[in-house]
Amino acid sequence: MSASSGRPPDPHRRPAASRAPLPARTYTVRRAALLAGALALAVALAALVAALARPSKAAHRPSAQPRASARRAHAHAHAHGRPPASADATPSPAQAVASVLAYTPFVKEGGDRGRDVALTFDDGPGPYTPGVLDVLERMHVHATFFVIGEMLRYFSASALRELRDGDVIGDHTETHPEMALLPAHEQHEELFEQMARIELLGGPRPQLFRPPYGSYDATTMRELRRLHLLMILWSVDTGDYLQPGVSTIARRALAGAHPGAIILMHDAGGTRTQTIAALPRIIRGLRARGYDLVTVPQLLADDPPPPGLPLPSSLSGD
Ligand SMILES: [Zn+2]
Repeated sequence: MSASSGRPPDPHRRPAASRAPLPARTYTVRRAALLAGALALAVALAALVAALARPSKAAHRPSAQPRASARRAHAHAHAHGRPPASADATPSPAQAVASVLAYTPFVKEGGDRGRDVALTFDDGPGPYTPGVLDVLERMHVHATFFVIGEMLRYFSASALRELRDGDVIGDHTETHPEMALLPAHEQHEELFEQMARIELLGGPRPQLFRPPYGSYDATTMRELRRLHLLMILWSVDTGDYLQPGVSTIARRALAGAHPGAIILMHDAGGTRTQTIAALPRIIRGLRARGYDLVTVPQLLADDPPPPGLPLPSSLSGD
């Protein structure tokens, strides 16, 4: 679109060359030669610009958008097992987060008009994350991972795999503190360092934040606003971090599920074999009940929560 207007037209450089001082005797000849040369150069440049403009339009315009919606379509096709009917009828997931953030600083669950449910995993990446990702990949589910920054020092390969798979990475702080106990500058660092690490890995800047232990205060909310982060709480807690048994974890997830539900689980912070074992049951059970498993941004794109909900004063969780 702006390929031609952004590039300074080369003819502007031509007069400078022809203005160069020249001995009178050779002036006419040199000027004619220069003009001819400049003309040839201009023609060559015009051809070059035209040649460059065509592929660049093809590369930037038509394919950038289809790539994005193809990715969505791909995600949709995976999640629904059928081609998307209305991939372009809803805002992009990233746009959806921004538009929800415009009217609320937090989300506990999506709207109740659809059939979306979001699986979320906290505290990773860790040694059990590949096991979680294996199940998600095998069953074609995209999930949301709230990642601890310092875990990326050791397990960045899993975070890269999450990004490659089309999962969403949110901010779960740098070191997993109780945010409400920290002064403002430390809260800011906890949020910002994790975001910087994700960007260094090549991921998109996180738009979502989940507070460790459900701990936040007015300072947290102010820092989140500064960093354009939407706080994502949960409406179903599987309690999987306490390792209550595979069937208990699965039963809690399925019993608590409702349209717009955000289900809390963990892919690290302890042994997660129970979570991994429960996951196929949870996915099959939710699908049998007619739910679509989506990422949190997709949930917000498909069916955002209503405005005006009061911020919960505190939540327990891990
Ligand atoms: Zn946590």
